[in-house]
Amino acid sequence: MNQNSKMEKLVSLCKRRGFIFQSAEKYGGLQGFWDFGPLGVELKNNLKKSWWQRFVQERNDIVGLDSSIITNPTVWEKSGHVQGFSDKLIECKDCNRRFKDADLDGSEPGPLKCPYCHSEKITKAKDFNTMFKTFVGPVEDSSATAYLRPETAQNIFVNFENIRQATRLKVPFGIAQIGKAFRNEITPGNFIFRSREFEQMEIEYFVEPKNDERWFEKWVVESHQWFIDLGIKKENLRLYKQPKSELAHYSKATTDIEYNFPFSAKGGEKGWAELMGIANRTDFDLKAHDFIYKDENNQEFVPYVIEPSAGVDRAMLAILLDAYEEIKGGRTTTTESNKEVEVVLRLHKSLAPYKVAVLPLSKKEQLSKPALEIYQNLQKHFMTAYDEISSIGRRYRRQDEIGTPYCVTVDFESLEDKKVTVRDRDTMGQDRVEIGDLMEYLDEKLTE
Ligand SMILES: [Zn+2]
Repeated sequence: MNQNSKMEKLVSLCKRRGFIFQSAEKYGGLQGFWDFGPLGVELKNNLKKSWWQRFVQERNDIVGLDSSIITNPTVWEKSGHVQGFSDKLIECKDCNRRFKDADLDGSEPGPLKCPYCHSEKITKAKDFNTMFKTFVGPVEDSSATAYLRPETAQNIFVNFENIRQATRLKVPFGIAQIGKAFRNEITPGNFIFRSREFEQMEIEYFVEPKNDERWFEKWVVESHQWFIDLGIKKENLRLYKQPKSELAHYSKATTDIEYNFPFSAKGGEKGWAELMGIANRTDFDLKAHDFIYKDENNQEFVPYVIEPSAGVDRAMLAILLDAYEEIKGGRTTTTESNKEVEVVLRLHKSLAPYKVAVLPLSKKEQLSKPALEIYQNLQKHFMTAYDEISSIGRRYRRQDEIGTPYCVTVDFESLEDKKVTVRDRDTMGQDRVEIGDLMEYLDEKLTE
């Protein structure tokens, strides 16, 4: 499958089946903003739940936080964002497009060119602060200026002492947060890869300065493993150690976990782009906000911070691309499917929007009545779909396309033997299961 066409097909599937829509599509959309539909919100919630379970629920050294999006602007002065959170903005005098210096066309020797029309008539790069500004209260003046947070990290740092006192946690410990962040990107693009409103999953992990490198390596390994456990193919992931020249000014070391996307997102190699970054932010942040830590022996020091930071939207895009599979001619041998391309979304069961679909073989009340009963019972435990429209083969494929791991078919035999057929998305294997055992059967299958 052509890589670009894979992206186009995924974007189209996402719209058609209700994963992701352009924000306010009715009015032409707004570049860099997206809406997550009925299936998208389920996938997103499942992804966030998986992260939270692994890094908060199952650990005794990390606690959660949900801080405000708009906060005292002093936070962004102390952190350096007001002065330095900027991109280099360039304008083309021929086509009037705006872009970042990193987007410049340097494919040929000689001066750099506009990436769109290849003109050499471009302006000098000027700093453009990518924080969104707003006003708090009824007066729109500089004293009322506030910012939509460009990252969730700073709200964690400013809560360092509150959380330490409330929880009595001792270094090493971490604070985790999932939440929206906003960046006025000059060139948003590649579907939900670079948006102006996005969601982050961040941990700030506080350690003794002398242990920073050990913890950094540990977090790289643990973060990488999490993606593998979510079912992303190992060969589509790689670790990229940022060279000194690329490091942010506060960072002693940064390793990105990159995914092999079907597009080019940075100047260099096609494909590989950042999914998540693990940074050793040293004591830069806690120093900037004037925090100090005292250990059991009354030794005072400023902890170092290791930051594993992942984008929810990017992870979602990688998961969808990785799970997307086309089977020419289809997998089933019934005549109607022979000529079609079948799509199977091989999502990890824990991420699938629907876990199970209930499909009565026919719309006749004789079958729909017991099928609805089964549906209503399963709904209490799993996200369950119900579909009685069109042929059973077509309905299986509709569920395969959105990644539903199990389909339960109620047929005329079910009325006699009180059993249903459970079909597996990946193997297409079918089990005949007693209706009374169905809950337990699915529960086991879904958690195995
Ligand atoms: Zn141009």
